[in-house]
Amino acid sequence: MTDRTATSTQVRYETPSRHIARIVMARPGAHNAQGLQMTYELNAAFDRAAHDDDIKVAILAADSRNFSAGHDLSGDGGKTWRDFTTVGTWAGFDAKGAEARYGREMEIYLEMCERWRNLSKPTIAQVQGKCIAGGLMLAWVCDLIVASEDASFKDPVIDFGICGVEFFNHPWELGIRKAKEFLFTADEISARDAAACGMVNRVVPRDELEAATLALAERIATKPAFALKATKQAVNHVQDVQGRRNAQMHAFSLHHLLHAHNELVYGVPVDPNGLPETVRDKLLARVAKAKAAGGAAG
Ligand code: ZN
Repeated sequence: MTDRTATSTQVRYETPSRHIARIVMARPGAHNAQGLQMTYELNAAFDRAAHDDDIKVAILAADSRNFSAGHDLSGDGGKTWRDFTTVGTWAGFDAKGAEARYGREMEIYLEMCERWRNLSKPTIAQVQGKCIAGGLMLAWVCDLIVASEDASFKDPVIDFGICGVEFFNHPWELGIRKAKEFLFTADEISARDAAACGMVNRVVPRDELEAATLALAERIATKPAFALKATKQAVNHVQDVQGRRNAQMHAFSLHHLLHAHNELVYGVPVDPNGLPETVRDKLLARVAKAKAAGGAAG
């Protein structure tokens, strides 16, 4: 029922019930912070669920107290893009200027999230505790979100001089005015507030989260597989013809304008003044090391 292959160290693939895959982020010591290793392990797990004809629904869950602390800004333990098989066609990850970061964030953030969002089968995010910045992107790419009463959601990147996370889905999740408030203030919202906005489907007690999510997945899995795929695509297409993809690309361009701006002003891709001290120190050290080695920073 559980698989952790030699190449999978931060994500666990489980089959807790017939026709259900459960993909579990298993990096509790780092609050499931998402670096390259986790990104490509998640991608492999989503692919596995997609390509297994017996699986109808995939759950994205997380070990420990918090769903996700977001992107791992402390680096990737010495690993680079060369250690992984990239999925998209953007490259130039070592190029000068803004090119490297644009290609990298296309590969590991925007296009990767788009790929997971467009997975052929229904997906459900099972969220507890903190879901911060890049963690939002992981929850949002799923079709449904079940959250525990202790769950909270926050995009703090305006504090770092950036206009929202790379997969800019805030307006679609919260509505225009709530999205602006969420982004302008960087305040966290509770699971119940997120549910009131339509971002979260169900809020349940913490000790019932796993069972409630699985029960919902099992109910969906009683439906015909092809009809589920077609229904998902039909609803996603509604969002797409409303301009979601165009709006996200525009936001992504602004996101990179701000990365480039911060690089010009501060020498790093974010405004370091708004970062927590420990994150700031790690980021500045990593960027200095990358620059000394002549590579791309950030
Ligand atoms: Zn970015």
